[in-house]
Amino acid sequence: MNAEIIAVGTELLLGQILNTNAQFLSVELSNLGIDVYFQTVVGDNQKRLEETLQTALKRADIVILTGGLGPTKDDLTKETIAQVLNLQLKLHQESLDKIKEFFAKMHRVMASNNEKQAFLPEGSIILPNNNGTAPGCIIEKDNNIVIMLPGPPKEMQPMFKEYVYPYLLKKSPYTIYSKVLRIFGIGESSLEEKLIDIFENQSNPTIAPYAKQGEVTLRITAKCESEEVAKGLIAPVEEQIRNRLGIMVYGIEEESLEEVTCKLLMEKNLTLATAESCTGGLLAEKITSTPGISKCFHTGVVTYSNESKVNLLGVSQDTLQQYGAVSCQTALEMAKGIRERSKADIGISITGIAGPGGGTPQKPVGLVYVGMATQQKCWYNELRLVGNRERIRNITVMNALDMLRKYLLTGETK
Ligand code: AMP
Ligand code: MG
Repeated sequence: MNAEIIAVGTELLLGQILNTNAQFLSVELSNLGIDVYFQTVVGDNQKRLEETLQTALKRADIVILTGGLGPTKDDLTKETIAQVLNLQLKLHQESLDKIKEFFAKMHRVMASNNEKQAFLPEGSIILPNNNGTAPGCIIEKDNNIVIMLPGPPKEMQPMFKEYVYPYLLKKSPYTIYSKVLRIFGIGESSLEEKLIDIFENQSNPTIAPYAKQGEVTLRITAKCESEEVAKGLIAPVEEQIRNRLGIMVYGIEEESLEEVTCKLLMEKNLTLATAESCTGGLLAEKITSTPGISKCFHTGVVTYSNESKVNLLGVSQDTLQQYGAVSCQTALEMAKGIRERSKADIGISITGIAGPGGGTPQKPVGLVYVGMATQQKCWYNELRLVGNRERIRNITVMNALDMLRKYLLTGETK
């Protein structure tokens, strides 16, 4: 089965907005196992839209149009579809009621031309718009399926997910099943390098990397006749990837680094205390977002100034003078200090320069030390991060969590 996407709107041709609808739909259709052979953009012009639609109907099984469903005169997608497919537009009372309700909820008066949006091609499957006024629809005619969706992405995307995806899934000859692996400690390009042969040799399942802040996810997607078969196709590829990446794979699906790390901490029944400088409590915040963590996490302090590092953690004045607050020596003393004072099994510390000011050639913005102490041993990790203050703080916290995770799994922090 193949599809063509037609984005309608002169603003797209003028370059005023990016055609993100086509991108979204292409990703979704590919996940459904539906091939997209053409993406077209056409302005708000009836004649050219008509031609575009005629061409698409000849070469695609499914034609998905977005945009041009508004209440104004230049919105003519629906009228053009009706004309090309030789269908009448009929008032759909439920949709009209819904549009009226939408305006009432927003305490706005409905303009009379909004009524136009409740006229839909006869015999179509109507797709309610739960985030705006223009309903969409699915028309099955001869050998074609024509799907009409609103232009605004925040209306189009939920409508697609809620109504069109399940509709197309039933039409798709395949079952699509995917598994997400979550990876920390490697960039997207190094990851691709490590896995290049696996990437290149796979067609089913496919492997798609996606870089998020500080981490990478890999989605392994199999297309086949049943979920059981799909799982069977995914398992050996997952194993191959895990063998290459080892401990860097920290979780699956929606699991977060803090969730995984805290779960391990609870399983091992160990207690943790934190002392943070440049992250100002962000690590403690992440840790405490895990339900049930109170049995393991009792103390987290923010020691932003040198005095508080001395007074609350027992960092020595000498260390601060000789090496500075942002140093591995200070990080280690902070970790030991918080561990001893709070009587926790593990102490973690963070000290660094989050920027934008405060950097020097020797100690640039983004230099961060994460310290960790247990009764037996101490470690530190020197990070050289780039980006703005928010990014540096977030990635520091992820590194601290990852260091703890690795220690809990292996007894070491690397
Ligand atoms: P329309 O339904 O044509 O009136 O479109 C309404 C709004 O939806 C436009 O002003 C855009 O902001 C947005 N929009 C329409 N088409 C697209 C598209 N293909 N990609 C992203 N946004 C779009
Ligand atoms: Mg438009």
